[in-house]
Amino acid sequence: MKHVDEYRDARTATQLVEKIQRLATRRWTLMEVCGGQTHGILRHGVDQALADAVQLLHGPGCPVCVSPVWAIDQAITLAQRPGTILASFGDMLRVPGTDGSLQQAKSRGAEVRVVYSPLDAVTMARQSPQSQVVFLAVGFETTAPATALAVLQAERLALKNFKVLSVHVRVLPAMEAIASAPHNQVQAFLAAGHVCTVMGHQVYQPFVQRYNMPVVVTGFEPVDLLQGIFECIRMLECGDVDVVNAYPRSVRSAGNENAQRLLDQVFQISDQTWRGMGRIAHGGLVLRPQYAQFDALAQLDQPACTVDVDHGCRSGEVMTGRMRPPQCPHFGLTCTPQQPLGAPMVSSEGACAAYFTYHSPAAVDTTAGSPQPSES
Ligand code: SF4
Repeated sequence: MKHVDEYRDARTATQLVEKIQRLATRRWTLMEVCGGQTHGILRHGVDQALADAVQLLHGPGCPVCVSPVWAIDQAITLAQRPGTILASFGDMLRVPGTDGSLQQAKSRGAEVRVVYSPLDAVTMARQSPQSQVVFLAVGFETTAPATALAVLQAERLALKNFKVLSVHVRVLPAMEAIASAPHNQVQAFLAAGHVCTVMGHQVYQPFVQRYNMPVVVTGFEPVDLLQGIFECIRMLECGDVDVVNAYPRSVRSAGNENAQRLLDQVFQISDQTWRGMGRIAHGGLVLRPQYAQFDALAQLDQPACTVDVDHGCRSGEVMTGRMRPPQCPHFGLTCTPQQPLGAPMVSSEGACAAYFTYHSPAAVDTTAGSPQPSES
């Protein structure tokens, strides 16, 4: 398959592994901020192939994993209202809130339905004029344009029974939170190819200058990931600080300007609580006041609670690179994909689920991710 097979080619991947191993004079610490990349890295054993040259940490790139507890709580509150249908992506149903998940609320009689796109929720609202349909909108800048389209479609159709509970998030403020933290170990970032397809890569220039940290836009296949890692190591070894696009078949400098216009038309930037990471300045997207008629939060009797309750889940430490999933005391014991304690074990893109799926306990390096003496 064109544009896929060449990026899964074992010979090319092996050559890149050897190039990286030759290039690295020390072990560098990189972080990817994309759940798809996390799964690609673990599924293809990229982390183990490069263990001597690179420590790969797994950032907050899984949209389900960062969705705040308060959003699940509010979604359950709305779903329990008579005449309300809560529409959500399937992954969100098992994510724990303060007192259980949407799936548990559904089993108690709440009206929760799975949709595959925000426009499905608009169709549902058209077909159920007697009900209020609330779409739980999660995800990064990659998925937010589809939510914006749904809002504009609902406006065009003059639907009064379609609402959005927006917990969309912005990836760059989360990277800034990690880079500026006192315990930060990350020396370069692999930027998420999907987000950059929408937002472009020039938006990272101020970040690399401010934090003196290379950023490489990276895809998802094994060769993509290795090329991204190679570019990071190349810059770190020679002291370069820049944004490099290692995913040019999808990402342009300015990104997708139509999608950005949609985002800007419907959303405005706000502070947002990220699960496990707390409040991140400018880390979210909420509906602009002119679309308040579609804002589910405006329907709630009380202001949304923004306190994050973690139930013992250590996802914040995992997503900021202070701990790897197998180092969590709950991993594989009181937290499994069948009985998840936290969102990163629920989601198909979560780092904890990835380790559970792809790494046998014997293969896991439980010392990696621990604070290490500075080598610089
Ligand atoms: S293993 Fe479970 S409890 Fe631990 S950080 Fe991951 S999701 Fe949270």
